[in-house]
Amino acid sequence: MKEFNNVLRSYGTTIFEVMSRLAQENGAINLGQGFPDGNGPPDVVRVACEYLETGVNQYPSMMGIPPLREAVANINKRFYGLEIDGSVEVMVTSGGTEALASSLFALIEPGDEVVLIEPLYDSYLPIVRRAGGVAKFIRLEPPNWSLTESSLASVFSDRTKLILLNSPMNPCSKVFTTEELSLIASFVSKYDSYAVCDEVYEHLLFDGLKHVPLMTLPGMRERCIRIGSAGKTFSLTGWKVGYITAQLNLLNPIAKAHQFLTFTTPPNLQAAVAYGLSKDDHYFKTLSSGLERCRDLLANGLKNLGFEVMPCHGSYFITADFRPLGFEGNDEEFCRHITVEAKVAAVPVSAFYQGGGVDNFVRFCFCKEEKTLMKALDRLRKHFNG
Ligand code: PMP
Ligand code: GLN
Repeated sequence: MKEFNNVLRSYGTTIFEVMSRLAQENGAINLGQGFPDGNGPPDVVRVACEYLETGVNQYPSMMGIPPLREAVANINKRFYGLEIDGSVEVMVTSGGTEALASSLFALIEPGDEVVLIEPLYDSYLPIVRRAGGVAKFIRLEPPNWSLTESSLASVFSDRTKLILLNSPMNPCSKVFTTEELSLIASFVSKYDSYAVCDEVYEHLLFDGLKHVPLMTLPGMRERCIRIGSAGKTFSLTGWKVGYITAQLNLLNPIAKAHQFLTFTTPPNLQAAVAYGLSKDDHYFKTLSSGLERCRDLLANGLKNLGFEVMPCHGSYFITADFRPLGFEGNDEEFCRHITVEAKVAAVPVSAFYQGGGVDNFVRFCFCKEEKTLMKALDRLRKHFNG
């Protein structure tokens, strides 16, 4: 029989699915895959239910229902001062994942170079490669995960079509500083390239930090594709409603990819997300402050157990070095070990790097109820401290 696609054949099952299955098989508390254990804001869920019974459930416009596009434009203005025309500069997608895929398929010509920053969210590289792009990696390492001018200079060239930027960053919870964003902007401008900005964790920042979209920097409005996700903003990761903000000439080719990939997204979920994005500041503040408390609870608990916990300024995740616990083995072995033996699942950070190297860090997800986190810490304590 003929071979299937070569790029996709080279990948196994995603680490998130692997660890979630292992967690389930072992009755482990799943701090691996990033999803909250609640059921989202009840009023947002209610709008979706009501729409199913009273709204129009046929194909909506491929660009998304007008109220949601308007709500995305408004949130751009409200949080970042961006003037966006919702009728032409916003497109709704089936999750951040589809937004990323449509953007990459639309922009990359075979042979184009694409700058990717490791540790790297799992869907980026396969899609870049499937689109024919050539990945150029910048590697950020613990404990500081800092980005330097020389690392950017070593990968950017006239062949660079785009950089993919994720801030706040999964898995390392890094929030890029204004200096780092300015550096990126200068390289993007200098080499006439674009920036696909994965900002799905834009409302999940801690310690008083505020999210700064690369798009707000001088010269970046016409070069950035900004991606958001209702999954993270409303703690409803299964909904898969994403949205892209980009200037019309950039959004047009992306819409062409989207029309052949998913075309549209369930209208009741779109209506509910439109409602949700119009919620007052209290909602957004409570979302981040609640998560910040969970971060502190997990970070302190892991420190007390002996982990060396890395700084975490945003997202759902915290990373930690497990070597001080005396475990002899790599991060994958450690994650399997704690899932099977301590009944707590995590994700190995090496899964986010190509060439290995960092294999003593694990990622724990803290977007859980406090009692879930305390139970997980208790299980780890019993396992490691007897
Ligand atoms: N980008 C990053 C960095 C993520 O962590 C996720 C998590 N799911 C996504 C994109 C995908 O978002 P969605 O679930 O809306 O497709
Ligand atoms: N973004 C989630 C994480 O990093 C996983 C999403 C998925 O499983 N595809 O855990």
